[in-house]
Amino acid sequence: MDDSPNFDFDTLAVRAGTARSDFNEHSEAIFLTSSFVFASAAEAAERFKNSEDYFTYSRFSNPTVAMFQDRLAALEGGEACIATASGMAAIMSVVMSTLQAGDHLVSSRALFGSTLGMFSQIFSRFGITTTFVDPSDLDAWQRAVRPETKMFFLETPSNPLTEVSDIEAISGIARAANALFVVDNCFCSPALQQPLKLGADIVMHSATKFLDGQGRVLGGALVGSKKIIIEQVFPFVRSAGPTLSAFNAWVLLKGLETLSLRVEKQSANALEIARWLEAHPAVGRVFYPGLESHPQHALAMRQQKSGGAILSFELKGDTPEQMRANAWRVIDGTKICSITGNLGDTRTTITHPATTTHGRITPEARAAAGITEGLIRLAVGLEHVGDIRADLQRGLQG
Ligand SMILES: *Cc1c(COP(=O)(O)O)cnc(C)c1O
Repeated sequence: MDDSPNFDFDTLAVRAGTARSDFNEHSEAIFLTSSFVFASAAEAAERFKNSEDYFTYSRFSNPTVAMFQDRLAALEGGEACIATASGMAAIMSVVMSTLQAGDHLVSSRALFGSTLGMFSQIFSRFGITTTFVDPSDLDAWQRAVRPETKMFFLETPSNPLTEVSDIEAISGIARAANALFVVDNCFCSPALQQPLKLGADIVMHSATKFLDGQGRVLGGALVGSKKIIIEQVFPFVRSAGPTLSAFNAWVLLKGLETLSLRVEKQSANALEIARWLEAHPAVGRVFYPGLESHPQHALAMRQQKSGGAILSFELKGDTPEQMRANAWRVIDGTKICSITGNLGDTRTTITHPATTTHGRITPEARAAAGITEGLIRLAVGLEHVGDIRADLQRGLQG
């Protein structure tokens, strides 16, 4: 199709990137082939020389993967996209392809656990150091800049406390520092937030979450300008091989078609649950950007289309032990919600961050991050909101 930027998001979500083979199939084909054949030695030579423009080998590129890349680039409003085998493979690829030993990174300290581990324990072994900052403190980003700072990294809203950071303001600081600004857009997806339009240079995705949206496959992606994605990231991915499989790309293409429908409905459900929890006597605090009580509510409403599908809430209790017991009672009382660390699924998932996703960090670091024993994270799905409420109420009534 004509990938005109004038098409609405919903049209791009079902149409952008589609490339038909000679069979004129309507639905996108899955090209499960590791390599591509050539008519002659001369053609092979020509195509290997210009491998950005031709399919030669699926570690470099593949038609189904290319369709997913083109569609996601259209949805994020970026020139180019490279898909990877997982969200973490996307983070590895962006750092390995744009930074080198001696470079410095400034990152939000409210990060997905494995991202934190990569920055603090893996990249540091290769001479890339990271300073972690409070993401909503703009002065802290500014103060952390050094002459060798080459990248800013942000997740917004944060996990699990849904802290919202000002993408546009941070992008100004990154630009002045000549640093690439990478935003992990996993929690919102492009259906709710488009960081490139707010000044980010690169959007990173764990496609495993809302882009698939049905808990089936792992995937990741990086979206940005051709200069960064094609000239810098692509040469790394084609050589190092953290490539997305054609099958997973096809599943993700189908996921993108229903992305905005799912995310908007899941967000509406989350808002209803958040309002109900906020009024519940057994609940202390509720963390959800769509609530007026959220400290960055105004910013969130400016930057995002809605509050999103993820919320956290804290059970009351006089001691940490009691708070944990109360939280676990709510989790164990559910019959619908899935007890799992994943999120972004059509099925509501429920997690106790202090003992799972954030269980391996020190109690001091956990306390500094505001993750108490009473905290529960809920990634709201597509079940009927009344059923989800009743599912939580069972453990909340004590
Ligand atoms: C899940 C997740 C990742 C990592 O993605 P994988 O696909 O599991 O590798 C990165 N960032 C955020 C915010 C995530 O939720």
